[in-house]
Amino acid sequence: FDDRDGWIWFDGHFVPWREARLHVLSHGLHYASAVFEGERAYGGRIFRLRQHTERLFNSARIMGFDIPFSAEAIDAACEETLRRNGLTDAYIRPVAWRGSERLAVSARGGGTHIAIAAWPWPNLFGEDRMRGIALAMAPWRRPSPETAPTEAKASGLYMTGTLSKHAAEEAGFDDALMLDWKGDVAEATGANAFFVFDGEVHTPAPIGFLDGITRRAVMELARACQMKVVERTIAPEEIGRAEEVFLTGTAAEVTPVRRIGDQDFTPGRVTETLVAGYARIVRMNEALPVA
Ligand code: PMP
Repeated sequence: FDDRDGWIWFDGHFVPWREARLHVLSHGLHYASAVFEGERAYGGRIFRLRQHTERLFNSARIMGFDIPFSAEAIDAACEETLRRNGLTDAYIRPVAWRGSERLAVSARGGGTHIAIAAWPWPNLFGEDRMRGIALAMAPWRRPSPETAPTEAKASGLYMTGTLSKHAAEEAGFDDALMLDWKGDVAEATGANAFFVFDGEVHTPAPIGFLDGITRRAVMELARACQMKVVERTIAPEEIGRAEEVFLTGTAAEVTPVRRIGDQDFTPGRVTETLVAGYARIVRMNEALPVA
């Protein structure tokens, strides 16, 4: 991923893609003191940019480090990164980390760095995703909010995500569905999960996992389409009686699920309505469609 043309915004300046390097003794690498965002631009506009920037600052605050720029400056830098790379439809990845100024568990007094890259990335699950993807049950659970700062989009929380995704892919699945520390349904490794029961849209309450910006947008959209939306605890035993299942996320957008473990689902009217509605709202940016 490091050998391509383009520009990366790095601590306030653009550097050529291949030269956006950091030292091997960076605290972020050794101790996972890094936070990031994933954003998507449609037609040159970044969907809910300010919400992403606010979540980045909140993640950094939870991790105890300051980003030495204002939210306005980071918003402008994300937009400038798109323009500088000649992109209109792209994925944008801001990342902030503790640097190599100090290397021990304590990094107090060390520095924080921030970079922003952007590249074309059509969809996390590729072209065929509308047929529905297959999820394996993850071998790892999401930690409790007392075990890890689960509200932060922090790199360290992705360790078990990568392990779970690799296990799923090796078994022929597209992604993994993770349970939370209590054994209830949490989310996929990079997207939130929704289930349709009796025509209603149900999703786990976001405790111990990321409250996705797409998740919130899709809940608003479903309500605007006169659907009933319920946030609640969902036990894995209930999954089998769901009429439809889908995932939401910046990279995943709205992706139908056709299988979880050995249970099959058929994407239907609710998923189709939300896939189409989401495709409309991201291009209109903040506005909601008329149902
Ligand atoms: N959960 C995890 C673990 C994620 O990485 C993501 C992607 N950022 C999501 C959920 C979805 O969040 P969003 O809709 O804000 O992209």
